[in-house]
Amino acid sequence: MDSVIVIIGAGIQGLSSAYNIAKGNKNAKIMVVESCPHEGKGSSGRSGSMLMKSRENKAKIELSLFSFQRLENFGYEFGEILKYKRLGFLSLVTKSMESRYLREHNLRLEMGVPSILINNKDLSAYCKGLNISDIEFGILGPDDCEIVPAQILNAFKKGAVARNVEIAFNERAIDIHTDGKRVIGVRTEKRLIECTIVVNAGGAEAKLIASWVGLDLQIENKRRSLFYVKTNSEDFSTGPMVEDAELEWYYRPMGGNQVLIGMGLEPFENPTDGPNLGFLPEIIKATKFRAKNLYPFEVFGGVSGIRSLTLDKLPIIGPIKKIEGYYNNCGWGGEGIMHSPAGGVIIADWINNTTIYPYEKNCFLLDRFLI
Ligand SMILES: Cc1cc2nc3c(=O)[nH]c(=O)nc-3n(C[C@H](O)[C@H](O)[C@H](O)COP(=O)(O)OP(=O)(O)OC[C@H]3O[C@@H](n4cnc5c(N)ncnc54)[C@H](O)[C@@H]3O)c2cc1C
Repeated sequence: MDSVIVIIGAGIQGLSSAYNIAKGNKNAKIMVVESCPHEGKGSSGRSGSMLMKSRENKAKIELSLFSFQRLENFGYEFGEILKYKRLGFLSLVTKSMESRYLREHNLRLEMGVPSILINNKDLSAYCKGLNISDIEFGILGPDDCEIVPAQILNAFKKGAVARNVEIAFNERAIDIHTDGKRVIGVRTEKRLIECTIVVNAGGAEAKLIASWVGLDLQIENKRRSLFYVKTNSEDFSTGPMVEDAELEWYYRPMGGNQVLIGMGLEPFENPTDGPNLGFLPEIIKATKFRAKNLYPFEVFGGVSGIRSLTLDKLPIIGPIKKIEGYYNNCGWGGEGIMHSPAGGVIIADWINNTTIYPYEKNCFLLDRFLI
């Protein structure tokens, strides 16, 4: 064994990290410590389950291109068929968002990502029940899919365990020990684990974990709520997932009369395990404005979770200058599921000194905020 690597957090990014590091490094002893009794209890178990080809900037589109390609080979890599529904994702663009969305649409096309601009008058073909009076146009990502995050999470877990990664549940990390220059251990509530490398994949708690080595991560945690509702209107039973780009409100047909509605940038650190009823009035207000017939609805379930957002909306991945052996894999915002194949490979490239991720990876370093 030439090194001991401790990954803090068994969310989708922590497990993708463990799997990908183990794949390329047979000599390291790799451990994942997770404070919950099960994997995926953080944001990874609370998502809208969308796999999308991003659009905001080149680095994000590259994360998507890589992740889509990996997921296309999911069967070959993990021995099971990837479950997905190709719904498409339609953004409704108001005047104030027009130039941004046109720029992003053009960037997608330049990078070979399908992106369809739909004029206002043609939008009702995608959904009859929307208020589009103030909408300039729509942008459709035809390849975007609904996936089953638990399937991907489990595949990473199984793949990691098959490569001798040890996962310690119910074990909260409470400190990272250094000798001032490099990592020497991780203290958990149960023991001190001596190690030379630690990966911070703590999701909403990444900021706290980073503070143990004196780092101030540029991350803001914001709560987003999902409601599963039943509606009497048939307008929302099929078609793409639809977002109002300005309100950050969206819905996704779930089949039959069931619809998922999501929204929220609440400044709270704590998720809710059931529907976040305190936020229901906001959701109703936005739904009545944008999709009048979807309301009244009956809430039959829901959840809220934390999106850890960085200033430039890119994740923070890789080493830091100050402490040798400390690595971040966090700040994934609303895209940590869809980009989980890329996140794990990038961190593995840093640790294993490989170059499997074919695109620029320095843009994800924490250093970008320190210049
Ligand atoms: C409502 C909502 C909808 C979303 N929709 C989508 C979507 O459609 N598509 C998409 O790609 N993304 C979506 N996201 C974002 C996505 O869920 C996250 O980006 C992703 O789950 C982050 O994964 P992670 O592994 O970094 O964090 P997490 O899944 O939160 O994992 C972190 C883990 O670390 C553990 N942990 C923390 N501190 C410690 C400690 N001290 N010791 C031990 N363990 C610790 C936690 O218990 C947790 O299990 C959504 C998020 C929300 C909230």
